[in-house]
Formats: sequence, C-alpha cells, structure tokens
Amino acid sequence: MGRLDDKVALITGAAGGLGRQTAIRMAEEGAKIALVDLNVEGGEETKKLVEEIGSKSIFIQADVSKSSDVQNYVKKTIEEFGKIDIFFNNAGIEGMVAPVEDYDEDEFDKVIAINVKGVFLGLKYVLKEMKKQGSGSVINTSSIGGLVGHENFIGYVASKHAVSGMTKDAAIEYGKHGIRVNAIAPGPINTDMVKNAAHKHNPDNPQEYYDLVTSLVPSRMIGEPEHVANLVTFLGSDESPYINGAIIAIDGAMTAI
Ligand code: NAD
Repeated sequence: MGRLDDKVALITGAAGGLGRQTAIRMAEEGAKIALVDLNVEGGEETKKLVEEIGSKSIFIQADVSKSSDVQNYVKKTIEEFGKIDIFFNNAGIEGMVAPVEDYDEDEFDKVIAINVKGVFLGLKYVLKEMKKQGSGSVINTSSIGGLVGHENFIGYVASKHAVSGMTKDAAIEYGKHGIRVNAIAPGPINTDMVKNAAHKHNPDNPQEYYDLVTSLVPSRMIGEPEHVANLVTFLGSDESPYINGAIIAIDGAMTAI
C-alpha cells in the first residue's frame, strides 16, 4: 500500500529538479501523475522514470505564464484522470543576479510573469476543480527568498514573497471547501537552478558559490531534491490534514538566524 494510492498529482516544473524528484517520490507512493513543463525533452524523460516505477502518467507541455496553456493542462489532467488531488505548483526561474540599479526591467517582468502569474493561474484553474471535488492539497513552491531578502535577487525575492502571500490568501479562502494550500520555502537545493546561480555568480569558478552557500547554512550542507520531495509528498498526503496556510522552510536553519 502506498501513501498516495488512488491519488492524482499534477506537477509543474516537472522536467527536472524538485518537480521530477517529487514525481518519482509520489509515483513510489502509488499516485498517478500529470507532468507539466515548457521543456518537452525533460518532461518526457520524467514520464519515463515515473512509468518505470509502475505509475500512470501524462506529460503536457505548457508555459505556466500563459492562461490558455494553464487551462489546457488542467483540462487534460481531468480528461485523463478525472480529478486533481494534489497540485505541486512549482515551476519557476531564478532570473538575473544583479544589484537593484543594474537589474534589467524586462528580466523583472519575466520573473514576475512565470513565478507570480504562473502560480496565480495554476491556483485559479486548479482550485476551481478542487472546489467541485470538495477536497485537495496544493503545495506552492516559494523559497527562503519568500521569507527573507537575498542580495542581488530582487526579482526573485519579490516573486517568492508574492507566492508566500498568495498561499495564505488561497488557504483562507478555500479551507472551508476541504482544500489545503501550503508553500514550501527551500534554501539552496542541488538542482539546475543552483548550478545556474553558481555560474552567474562567478562563471570562471562556480565552486566559489557552492562553498559560500554551504558556509551560510547552519547545517553546513546544500539540500538534495529528495529532501524536498519527501516534504511535498507528506503535505500532499492525508497525513497532514491540519497543516494549511503554512510556509514551511526546508533550509538547514538558514532562516532561523
Ligand atoms: P529547475 O530549473 O531544475 O526546475 C524548474 C523547472 O521549471 C524547469 O524544468 C523549467 O523548464 C520549468 N519552467 C521554467 N519556466 C517555465 C514556464 N514558463 N512554464 C513551464 N515550466 C517552466 O529548478 P528547481 O530548483 O527544481 O526549481 C523548482 C522550483 O523550486 C522553482 O520555483 C524555484 O524557484 C524553487 N526553488 C529552488 C531552490 C533551489 O535551490 N533549487 C530553492 C528555493 C526555491
């Protein structure tokens, strides 16, 4: 018996990193999975990995910042599986690394479009379905950048504070419909996003960023996608009925300082 037997999970940003690892973890627990990403190759690879575990899965290509794409991924998931029990609203980008005065305006708009509007659109169309069902668990991916500031990441920090805020708003609105809306706030986790940030920090020596980040984490480690996948699976399961509207840090005590 898996902890998610008979559940349907919808995961955005499923082509890699936290989305892929969570898809694998949820498949191990028996869930059927709808995978969403802009990246077709990575999305199809995750589908293959999920199916190797024995779980049913579909991949839907979408740009989460486009309303028609979001409506389409919700429609396709319902057509295929009939319901959405768990929604991991996770796709996001880190944007550029620069002081405020040098931060590019178009880049700011792009980060807000994907990280804020993308999460909003996901909530808008998935919550409508969950309300009809009278049940559901949503996990938005915020960040420690949704709890505290981070030098040279103004677009990202603005976007993740917005994700934390939208989580609280939706939890308050939808609790009475049997739906929970929580957010995870990861510290640095070993995915392509951290690799990109390391490269942007110092293209000649990306290791410098890893060493710097590790020294800033009280647990003196960078997290692994499996750590996050375990938390998201718990929040998606029926084991966490009273956790609602929470922004849960998973950061080796980085924001405890
Ligand atoms: P990742 O880059 O491996 O995954 C992000 C995924 O989102 C990619 O597969 C990418 O193709 C997809 N994506 C980007 N723009 C999209 C769009 N417009 N439409 C659809 N898909 C799109 O990085 P990750 O670390 O797995 O990031 C997942 C989430 O975790 C992000 O929201 C990120 O901000 C958040 N996060 C990551 C860390 C970290 O250290 N890795 C820390 C805190 C929060």
